[in-house]
Amino acid sequence: MAFECLCCGVCCRYLGPYHEAHAASSDAGVYEFELEFTPTGERIDVTVSEEMQHLLSDMSVFEEYPESCPFLRYISDNEARCIIHSTRPDYCRKSGCYDYLVRDSDGVICGKIKNRFVIDADEHVSEVLARLSDIVSRAPYNVFIKEVTNSLTNAGYTIS
Ligand code: SF4
Ligand code: SF4
Repeated sequence: MAFECLCCGVCCRYLGPYHEAHAASSDAGVYEFELEFTPTGERIDVTVSEEMQHLLSDMSVFEEYPESCPFLRYISDNEARCIIHSTRPDYCRKSGCYDYLVRDSDGVICGKIKNRFVIDADEHVSEVLARLSDIVSRAPYNVFIKEVTNSLTNAGYTIS
């Protein structure tokens, strides 16, 4: 069955403080930005879609989810929008709800890795990850994934 995105926005809420968007230039228009997409190192020019421009100044999402992507907005409690949808990074086009699943020795899913974050982690997975240093969470994405995978594998989990 084809993946169907429910537009919940969860995958865009955990990009962390290292994901940055800068206004492209003063004469490029307030709806154009240069995005440094840290999970992949991409630097791309993005544009807020015309029909989404009214959402740009609504910063309420960051009060509840301060590590959200700068281009995530909510139009209702459960419905999110990417306001640069047509120019979003390649990674966003290709990825779904998670990059990797964390399973215990019985094959039970007990965490999801998305970007630099482990979401929906159970208590034990959270304990293992809490032992990782802050340096790991700031490391390049490939280093982050390697360290997280090593730690969880040593603790008896599988990552796929
Ligand atoms: S660019 Fe759009 S799809 Fe990608 S993380 Fe940000 S809000 Fe989500
Ligand atoms: S891809 Fe993101 S927005 Fe879509 S259903 Fe999965 S977590 Fe929600």
